[in-house]
Amino acid sequence: MPLLVQKYGGTSVGSIERIKQVAAKIIRAKRVGHDVVVVVSAMAGETNRLLGLAHEIAEIPDEREKDVLLASGEQVSVALLTLALKEVGQPARSYLGHQVRIETDSAYGKARILSIDSTKIVQAIKAGDVVVVAGFQGVDEDDNITTLGRGGSDTSAVALAAFLNAEACEIYTDVDGVFTADPGICPQARKLARISYDEMIELASTGAKVLEIRSVEFAKNYSVPVHVRSTFSDVEGTWLVNEEESMNDVLVSGVASDKNEAKITLVRVPDQPGLAAQIFGPIADAHIVVDMIIQNASEDGTTDLTFTVPKADHKKALSIMEKALPAVHAKGITVDTEIAKVSVVGVGMRTHAGVAAKMFQVLAAEGINIEMISTSEIKISVVINAKYTELAVRVLHEAFIGKQGTV
Ligand code: ASP
Ligand code: MG
Repeated sequence: MPLLVQKYGGTSVGSIERIKQVAAKIIRAKRVGHDVVVVVSAMAGETNRLLGLAHEIAEIPDEREKDVLLASGEQVSVALLTLALKEVGQPARSYLGHQVRIETDSAYGKARILSIDSTKIVQAIKAGDVVVVAGFQGVDEDDNITTLGRGGSDTSAVALAAFLNAEACEIYTDVDGVFTADPGICPQARKLARISYDEMIELASTGAKVLEIRSVEFAKNYSVPVHVRSTFSDVEGTWLVNEEESMNDVLVSGVASDKNEAKITLVRVPDQPGLAAQIFGPIADAHIVVDMIIQNASEDGTTDLTFTVPKADHKKALSIMEKALPAVHAKGITVDTEIAKVSVVGVGMRTHAGVAAKMFQVLAAEGINIEMISTSEIKISVVINAKYTELAVRVLHEAFIGKQGTV
């Protein structure tokens, strides 16, 4: 029978009532002839609650123990969903990450999946069970519990779909699919029927919260068809697919914003070889992901070096930088947490010029100052003051996508 991997997020399993609805949905997929492996997140709010507990004890909790704690959220939801399936007569079985050996590296809090041993899952499917696997968690080679990073259940699901060679991976969530912008910010936003993996990677990395970025990278690398759709309706959602010719006609597919980064500036560092390496080496060793980096041209042999890191890591980055300050001869360090990154994304940019110029004009017309700029082949991102985020998204959507359908 064709195998479907279905993933249900925190809101979809946020109450007992909803867990029962999810069970009914899984059974419908079984009835129409699918084998089903289900991945679930922790119940809505649970991961934050657990995180709060850890932070009541320590400002920077020990990373190994934090993962042990956070992984418990998904243990509750797999058990409850499996009970709900059994209660209505559907044989089912739950597994935690370490039980099916979702093996990861040892980067606590942001571990990468290296391999999955599908033996037990395949056996259970053959026996007619629905297999319910805890998302977001794995185990390293020394049997330490690891977690994959916030929103990591998406990656668990796509990785399972890849390793089990599933027909598709359905990501059930509380929205209807991937939109041209966040409908909460931009009422004109529309659902996309299809989007390429590359555009989705850029959108996810620039703040579109519907899918976790690593899951999309995984989907791309293994060509897993991913269908993002709503738990609460049966309408078609958005398909993530390989790039198609027709997609090039659309200049901008989506506008995204992200308020989860902080900007750190090292003031007046000497402009000499090896300095950037000295600064970013320790940051990388601490597994902090640097996003944008800007180094100004030097006039007096010194230069300001500005970069962004996830807000959650900015204190850690700051303490590393403070230690490094004397060695890199910086005059000082400043931090700004009130920033936002706003991005436009579209594969059409590969073949069309002028998108950046238009973006800057649109922002200038609103008096919005651009603090940093970065680009890729199919994306332009700017850092602006956080208070202009919503305005920027709306005017960019209006300018590039407008009211009429490009989808
Ligand atoms: N429960 C985890 C989180 O809140 C993983 C997930 O939801 O995908 O980030
Ligand atoms: Mg989630």
